[in-house]
Amino acid sequence: MKPASFFLLFLSLFMVSEVRSETLLAVGEDAEGALALTHWLYHTPAEHADDITTVRQLSSSRWQRLTPDDNNRIGIPAFWVRFSIYNAENTPIDRILSLANPHIDNISLYHVINGQVKHQMIMGDSLPFNQRPIINNHFLYPFQLEPDVLHTFYLKIETEGSASLPLSLSSPNSFAKDIEASSLTNGFQLGALTAIGLFSLFIAISSRSFSYSYYSGYVLSVTLLVATLHGFAFRFIWPDWPLLQKYMIPFLVPTTMFFALLFTEKVLQLKYHNLRMLRLCRYGAFVAVLLAFITPFINYTVSLYINILAVLIVTVALMIMALIQAMKGHKLAKLYTLAWSGMLVGSFVTAAMYLGLLDLPISHLTPLMLGLLFEIVFMAAVLAIRYNDERKSKLKIQQEAVIQAQRIRETREESLKIEAESNEKLEQMVQGRTLELEIALRELNEANQKLTEQATIDSLTGVKNRAAFDKRLQAEGRLSRRQQTPMAILMLDIDRFKSINDTYGHLAGDQALRLIAQTLNEKLKRPGDLVSRFGGEEFAIILPNTDEDGAALVAERIRQTVAVLPITWESHLIPLTISIGVSAEIINTEQHPTQLLEQSDKALYCAKNDGRNRVMTYTPDTL
Ligand code: GH3
Ligand code: MG
Ligand code: MG
Repeated sequence: MKPASFFLLFLSLFMVSEVRSETLLAVGEDAEGALALTHWLYHTPAEHADDITTVRQLSSSRWQRLTPDDNNRIGIPAFWVRFSIYNAENTPIDRILSLANPHIDNISLYHVINGQVKHQMIMGDSLPFNQRPIINNHFLYPFQLEPDVLHTFYLKIETEGSASLPLSLSSPNSFAKDIEASSLTNGFQLGALTAIGLFSLFIAISSRSFSYSYYSGYVLSVTLLVATLHGFAFRFIWPDWPLLQKYMIPFLVPTTMFFALLFTEKVLQLKYHNLRMLRLCRYGAFVAVLLAFITPFINYTVSLYINILAVLIVTVALMIMALIQAMKGHKLAKLYTLAWSGMLVGSFVTAAMYLGLLDLPISHLTPLMLGLLFEIVFMAAVLAIRYNDERKSKLKIQQEAVIQAQRIRETREESLKIEAESNEKLEQMVQGRTLELEIALRELNEANQKLTEQATIDSLTGVKNRAAFDKRLQAEGRLSRRQQTPMAILMLDIDRFKSINDTYGHLAGDQALRLIAQTLNEKLKRPGDLVSRFGGEEFAIILPNTDEDGAALVAERIRQTVAVLPITWESHLIPLTISIGVSAEIINTEQHPTQLLEQSDKALYCAKNDGRNRVMTYTPDTL
């Protein structure tokens, strides 16, 4: 610092009484990188000094140095912060004031140069994004430092969340450098998270796997949370809805927990290994859902405390569960523990840096973000292993099922074959039996027919018997009556047959009867004619559609044939004659056939009386 400028500054210090006794920051051209303003900040509550005029009038004793403890508070009432700087060079210097907490609701910035408010500006994430003087996630204020002039900045901070004030000064060059580096890191991190999240989502959709769905939910909500924390979400996703800024973090934190719990349940396969832990995870997920829908609408500070507490409990609980399962020897639980510890180590380092226990030349959030990235990438690997294991076991089950199905098919085929064979055998047997039965039936039928026929035949002579004659007599009678055609009956009796029996024996008589019957049958050619043995040595003949003359003619022919018939018995020629009574009429009543029969019998009686071996036709005069 040059003596002249020092002098000037000294002068102005007297002129500007408001910053007396405070540590001033000298800014030079040689400053490399961003200069953190933590050690030059003074603060006072805004309770008694609401506007810039009042606050400037406060005595110096009301201003306190801002300690790191003050800096990490959450949900404190509005307060003022001020710091003073001057240019230690001869030439004007350009500087950018940066406030790297994108969640401060309202910042009223007053730039006082040599005791006069020259610029004032209102910023904060409660205003639409494009109202910022420089478009950036952080709040920026560019200004020029004239040589030997005192610049005092008053910032009124009103916020519901973290009141952390990472204020820094950078030259435009170093700012551009820093911004480039941090954009690259953040871009890489968000890009990697988004890629893994979307990739898992696609796998979840295509494979309908629950574990991948929960994992993609977890990764995507973590991604959105990180983007919101860094201010990228406000900048790129909802720049015109500053109101969302208030709701997103209390919503995203429980959502992330919800997915983490369900995903852990799947990876640790608690359904198979530990039902109590499974229940715990599900209750936790239920509570997370409640938090996601309740905490955005309660007091922001309270909701932040609740969510931080919940995150702590869930993280520890998950770690304990994973450790227990890992100690029991479950492979996936071991890998899960490793992944989870990566993130825990990252968050511990970040916490230690915030608390001042650790001093590393990197951003506070970097270890946490590295841990998170490690965890997510590693979990993706765990999930892939789990998926592969599951696929293998499914394949094994499938193969077993195929073998089982093959066995069942073979058994079924065999039983079908046996059934077919036995069916065939049965069919053959049935066919055989049916054939036998058919033959038996046919034989029975034939026998029956024979029997019925035999019932109408006289056994000695082979001509129709008396029963057949009676039946036929009625039938022909009806026909004659309907057609009004004459019907004739011939009644035959062998002459003196008794003496033949007596002379040659009964067997000779029987033989004679058979021969006469045969002759009668041969003589009567018309199909309707019927010869029957009427009884003893008497025959009756029905001649349908035959009148009296025709019948007499037939009778005469029969008589003559029989008379010359050479009947021999034991070389004796037996002389034999017959007498025939004839009666023929058109039938008119039901009793008429019987009457006709009686008439022919009467005519026969007449023929006998007349001397035998003759034909006699009935006339009403016949006795
Ligand atoms: P006619 O008729 O000329 O008056 O004398 P006939 O000797 O034939 O007398 P009649 O009609 O009374 O006798 C019937 C005899 O016919 C009695 C019996 O000896 C004989 N006769 C009846 N049925 C049979 C038979 O089935 N077989 C044999 N061999 N003889 C029979
Ligand atoms: Mg007789
Ligand atoms: Mg006789």
